[in-house]
Amino acid sequence: MQKGKIDVKTENIFPIIKKFLYSDHEIFLRELISNAIDATQKLRTLSSVGEYNGELGDLTIHVNLDKKKKTLTVSDRGVGMTESEVKKYINQIAFSSAEDFLERYKDKVDAIIGHFGLGFYSSFMVAEKVEIQTRSYQEDSKAIKWSCDGSPRYTLEEIEKDAVGTDIILHLADDSKEFLEENRILELLKKYCKFLPVPIAFGKEKEWKDGKEVETGKLRIINNTEPAWTKKPGDLNQEDYDKFYRELYPMNEDPLFNIHLNVDYPFNLTGILYFPKLKNNFEIQKNKIQLYANQVFVTDSVEGVVPEFLTLLHGVIDSPDIPLNVSRSYLQSDSSVKKISSHISKKVSDRLNDIFKNNRVEFENKWDDLKIFIEYGMLSDEKFYERAEKFALLKNTEGKYFTFEEYQKMIKENQTDKHDNLVYIYSTDKEKQYSFIDAASKKGYDVLIMDGQLDTHFINHLETKFKNSRFVRVDSDVVDKLILKEENADSKLTAGQQNDLSTVFRSVLPEKPIFTVSFENMSETDNPVTITQSEFMRRMKDMSGAGGGMGFYGEMPDSFNLVVNTNHPIIIKLADDKDKSAGKDLEKIREKIQPIKTSKDELEAANKGKKEEDQSQEEKDRIADLNKKIEDLEKKKEERLQKFGKDNKLVKQLIDLALLSNNMLKGEDLARFVKRSIELI
Ligand code: ADP
Ligand code: MG
Repeated sequence: MQKGKIDVKTENIFPIIKKFLYSDHEIFLRELISNAIDATQKLRTLSSVGEYNGELGDLTIHVNLDKKKKTLTVSDRGVGMTESEVKKYINQIAFSSAEDFLERYKDKVDAIIGHFGLGFYSSFMVAEKVEIQTRSYQEDSKAIKWSCDGSPRYTLEEIEKDAVGTDIILHLADDSKEFLEENRILELLKKYCKFLPVPIAFGKEKEWKDGKEVETGKLRIINNTEPAWTKKPGDLNQEDYDKFYRELYPMNEDPLFNIHLNVDYPFNLTGILYFPKLKNNFEIQKNKIQLYANQVFVTDSVEGVVPEFLTLLHGVIDSPDIPLNVSRSYLQSDSSVKKISSHISKKVSDRLNDIFKNNRVEFENKWDDLKIFIEYGMLSDEKFYERAEKFALLKNTEGKYFTFEEYQKMIKENQTDKHDNLVYIYSTDKEKQYSFIDAASKKGYDVLIMDGQLDTHFINHLETKFKNSRFVRVDSDVVDKLILKEENADSKLTAGQQNDLSTVFRSVLPEKPIFTVSFENMSETDNPVTITQSEFMRRMKDMSGAGGGMGFYGEMPDSFNLVVNTNHPIIIKLADDKDKSAGKDLEKIREKIQPIKTSKDELEAANKGKKEEDQSQEEKDRIADLNKKIEDLEKKKEERLQKFGKDNKLVKQLIDLALLSNNMLKGEDLARFVKRSIELI
């Protein structure tokens, strides 16, 4: 037996590394299996070029647990190693690269945990002793056993071993007993090895018999050695893609579309991305894109590699060119990674554009589900916006879809206002805003449905993109004022009547939310009373709700407009009723106010131009007295109008009807409305 000392500068670097990498001990298995795969692939290659003439045979890699001996063994039938190779690759290279690694990263180990390539050496994170039993494929090579307990000392001896290949035997340390559990190893194999290119066997297949789980004679193979992304797109059909999706995410609904990535220049990248059917909620995204390097699972945090808006997609990306042993922030600034990211973004938009062009019906059918991805992309990625502009769709309340250009053409004639702005009218809720949508349609306007999660932001974004255009929610104003065209019609109410009615309406309006009463000269077929909320106020509130930093607006109470149609017969009748029932009283008050006002005006006129100190106290007192009298009389007038409002069922009924069509009439008020309506019938 030979004994030797590995030439490393630091004595016992093992305990240090072990501590450093505490949270990620499990990757040792991935590393050992990757090495076994590499060795197997090398033998396959040698055989195919005629440099190895032996029988390849069954190349399955075996993982075995021995609980009694506390060992975990990974056996391959790959190229194996000769004595000098062990000395070179294990003693020198593997060890020195470990030392290197430690030297280089000792300050920022946290950042790289999980994404490094410590290789063979990582087995010492979990084992107190590691043995290698190996026999090279080269003729006449002797089988040898290398053994090391984690100190830089090792032993090397000849052994009996017939088969070509390598067994790596880990004697697990006491603090790593978890890796003696079959389920733990199974879990790790499924996580890291599911798609490796050489079959990996671990234990036996199990089946249920007489209510018990029993082992069968068949080997349990962990992996699918030929996952779909490694095949050529031409060799796959839709069923294959869907099947692979189910293999990745067994619990999910079928995806909407898939995109096969296949690049070998200027970088190597394969993969399949899927547009999943999202349940309209970002948070429930547990399934993520998985990142592989030559079929070895690396991570499912793909930030940086995939454009942010596409991290919602599902599927796999495989690239040996993505540097994995670096920190995330480095990854994001790495130029080849940036290229990969923009390539993926382009591929995705190309594919969407293809489907849009070649199968518009299918595209439209899936639009409602796709929309969130595309809007997200258009909001966050300028390049993607430019590409998606051609195929992004707008949907109207009738369920028809239009491209931006088509829609613009369609509404141009009817929805351009007097300042030459194109007005896009939209609804966020077809049911709740029904009466407004109806009024707009009757006027020949088209109404878009914008009820998606991102639509508030998307509308703002489109307004910055579309020239001379404006979006208004269908209930942000009465229909005549949504798109201002020419001056409005005449009013059948005088200014005085409007003033009186304003008080009448205010006397019956609820205290909350806040209402402003205004009068509009609409057509007599429009609603008598309408409730609107200004586009500006509502958007500010929406944005502060969505975390847009508009806290101030978010805290403001809701305020609405009560718009009264000055030309509606009911309103004119109401004005008449008011005159009939309160006209005389009001007239009397007015008659009283008039002379007081006149004397006040005279006094003020006489004092005009005089400085404050030149006015006599008597005069000042007199003006104050007159003002007080006017105020009292005005108050009386107001009380009279309020009494009229409160006694008049029609006013309340009109307001309630307007509230009702905005879904704002609830609870007790609603019950009272129903009762009153019955009485009126
Ligand atoms: P890497 O795999 O990145 O080269 P490792 O530390 O994992 O680094 O392995 C070091 C070297 O040891 C490998 O390059 C290979 O030459 C050799 N080696 C490790 N495991 C095996 C194996 N199972 N069969 C043959 N050679 C192996
Ligand atoms: Mg390796």
